[in-house]
Amino acid sequence: MKPELADIKLKNGLPHQARKRFGQNFLHDNNIIEKIIDSIAPTKNDHLIEIGPGQGALTIPLAESGARIDCIELDRDLAAFLTKEFANRSSVNIIQQDMLKYDLSELSNKEKSLRVIGNLPYNISTPVIFHLLKNHHLIADMVFMLQLEVIQRLTASPGDKNYGRLGLMVQYFCEVEHLFNVPSSAFTPKPNVVSAIVRLKPYAELPFKAKDPECLQTVIRTAFNQRRKTLKNSLRGIISENILETLPIDTSLRPENLSLAEYVLISDAITK
Ligand code: SAM
Repeated sequence: MKPELADIKLKNGLPHQARKRFGQNFLHDNNIIEKIIDSIAPTKNDHLIEIGPGQGALTIPLAESGARIDCIELDRDLAAFLTKEFANRSSVNIIQQDMLKYDLSELSNKEKSLRVIGNLPYNISTPVIFHLLKNHHLIADMVFMLQLEVIQRLTASPGDKNYGRLGLMVQYFCEVEHLFNVPSSAFTPKPNVVSAIVRLKPYAELPFKAKDPECLQTVIRTAFNQRRKTLKNSLRGIISENILETLPIDTSLRPENLSLAEYVLISDAITK
């Protein structure tokens, strides 16, 4: 059964208080939990990585599938609680670590062998996604709870007000699907924002492959550092106007109007 907040006792015998600095908003709504588990559809052959298992709201039903689950939890008290809770389940392994410092390749080196899931701590969700993308080749898919606003950035198209570096870099590596929204009443304590579930599926073959993805990152970062300027002006420091003018791109556009394919063209022109 899902543990209640008050069930988790610290060493001093007091109940666990949600820690704001760790972005702790625990899911308690069983319908939402079920919907998330259905979206993941775990099987016993899966190798799941759960980021921030907290009090096990998702871990406990996921473990029913018999899948191998490696959980990365930063909070020592929660990690100790879960280690006890799952002591009799050898398929569930609790790792007390900071996800931002944890290297996924310690768990598997096989292409597309890992399924990553998590109700992510909102304060570090973007850096966690960038960190995971370093190992995109190891990941079959990811299902995350995020702030709706972040998912709007992940799914944004050219011209949208949310279009920018995060969406472009994630769309470079992954197919992105906004699954459903989650009201703040599903959590304890309630966050001040609406949340949603997203699926990110790394492509087997990248649809727009840059010669050098690092260079692509630099181009996109530089362009959006000055998003109100025209492309010609915002990229002045990294590509000459002469080279830019040879590309089939309207350089009087603003960075927010260019597609991923066009950013790849610019990056490849620099990499040549
Ligand atoms: N999965 C639980 C749930 O849905 O109720 C808890 C989700 S809570 C939003 C985020 C969890 O991530 C917390 O348990 C928090 O301690 C953990 N966490 C925060 N920062 C972390 C980090 N850098 N690495 C790993 N876990 C982290």
